Amino acid sequence: LSSIADSALIAFDSIADRAASLVNPSIRLGVTGLSRAGKTVFISSLVHNLLKGGRLPLFEPLQSGRISNVRLEPQPDDAIPRFQYEDHIETLIRERTWPDSTRAISELRLTFDYQSASGWSRFLSPGRLSIDIVDYPGEWLLDLPLLQQDYRTFSERTATLARTGIRAELSGDWLAFAAQTDMDAPADEMTARRLFEIFAAYLRACKSDERSLSTLPPGRFLMPGDLEGSPALTFAPLPDIPDTPAKPGSLRAMMERRYEAYKTVVVKPFFREHFARLDRQIVLVDALQAITRGPEAVADLERAMQDVLECFRPGSGSLLSALTGRRIDRVLVAATKADHLHHEGHDRLEAVTRRLVERAVTRAGVAGAGIDVMAIASIRATREATVRQNGQTLPVIVGTPIAGETINDERFDGNRKTAIFPGDLPANPESIFEAEKPGEQARVNAVRFRPPEVAEVNGTRVALPHIRLDRALQFLLGDRLK
Ligand code: GDP
Repeated sequence: LSSIADSALIAFDSIADRAASLVNPSIRLGVTGLSRAGKTVFISSLVHNLLKGGRLPLFEPLQSGRISNVRLEPQPDDAIPRFQYEDHIETLIRERTWPDSTRAISELRLTFDYQSASGWSRFLSPGRLSIDIVDYPGEWLLDLPLLQQDYRTFSERTATLARTGIRAELSGDWLAFAAQTDMDAPADEMTARRLFEIFAAYLRACKSDERSLSTLPPGRFLMPGDLEGSPALTFAPLPDIPDTPAKPGSLRAMMERRYEAYKTVVVKPFFREHFARLDRQIVLVDALQAITRGPEAVADLERAMQDVLECFRPGSGSLLSALTGRRIDRVLVAATKADHLHHEGHDRLEAVTRRLVERAVTRAGVAGAGIDVMAIASIRATREATVRQNGQTLPVIVGTPIAGETINDERFDGNRKTAIFPGDLPANPESIFEAEKPGEQARVNAVRFRPPEVAEVNGTRVALPHIRLDRALQFLLGDRLK
């Protein structure tokens, strides 16, 4: 019954959206990716390049001169926070530091005036299209599988994963605490909170820079949005639950109830109210980071990609189609931070990401149509150069490492440019999935750079430099501005 009600609500939202769209044509572009994948930087740079006439030769409507105006406009949704574009640009350009990352959902409306390229509409008044950019944590998508799992299954899966590989080193405290907790004892708020805290600490440890694991549901435990501290977020899985009903009033019964509440009040409304209304989607992936950390991080990223891509499966009868209808017709998976590589490495990064996505696509059962893969840098923080060493000419990248970075025991203060060898991705993309193949592992330099200096011409700053943002734009929006 609830799924019929869900569908009816969706149908209603959809009609309302489409009616509004007749008056002022608009499409909703979702921007997601796991935390630190580069969502905030992507949106900031994309908008900056469009507003400031950035170099976007592969974005056809702009290149051909058919777009006459691009501007920011008030967004249509009053209940969603606005994406703080101006603050982020200020931070990036004036302070040359990276802006605060995405913590919850936000939105920004861009409106294009354009001349149609073909047909009769060319002679009519200029067209107008608004793009509502919706930024949200990719972690929230990882919750979709939970809708099909009861509390016991969820607990079992989480515990099994926690006992494997490098997770086993990190999950000790949680598993030990859970093992000595009596789940049949009367429900107690402090025990529930302690369990939650210790479990969330384990998830955070998995996500840390040294580990870079990806599949870490429940998604709101790492990205709570505005629900931090609410009962629907104060639970944790309990390993080894027996196959009998929970004792009424017990800790286990309380945990079960909260887990169900999490699905009802957190997960479903997100898919219904936000995800269901998207038309296009870009999924950003920090593939370089995972590759640098080795095969286990790569396998984990692949698992997360599979869960994420599952959300875009159009199949009828799936849980999601009841919840969201079907609307998204193009998904771009973009490997970010390509400016950490020399341009020769960009195609390899793309190949590796494509391989990762292909495997996830096959497993998730998403038809390949409508999915593309690219390697991009939303902001290019480095430039390329060559150095001569021992009679050889070698490619390097030049940038300003952020304060505190050390390279070969040399500590940087954030004010000095330096050239580094960008490192290499393997020629054979398959090898990133395989444990330690001597000579074949990726050797990527993980130095973090400050945002680049942006020149000022006649008192205004030029657009932020990027790599292949125009290709991404063309895939995501080009056909809608025809
Ligand atoms: P979010 O959590 O997805 O919103 O991630 P952010 O957009 O905040 O990006 C996280 C960090 O990744 C930033 O602080 C930068 O250090 C880095 N980053 C993101 N995009 C780029 C890029 O295009 N080039 C470089 N060099 N670094 C980037």
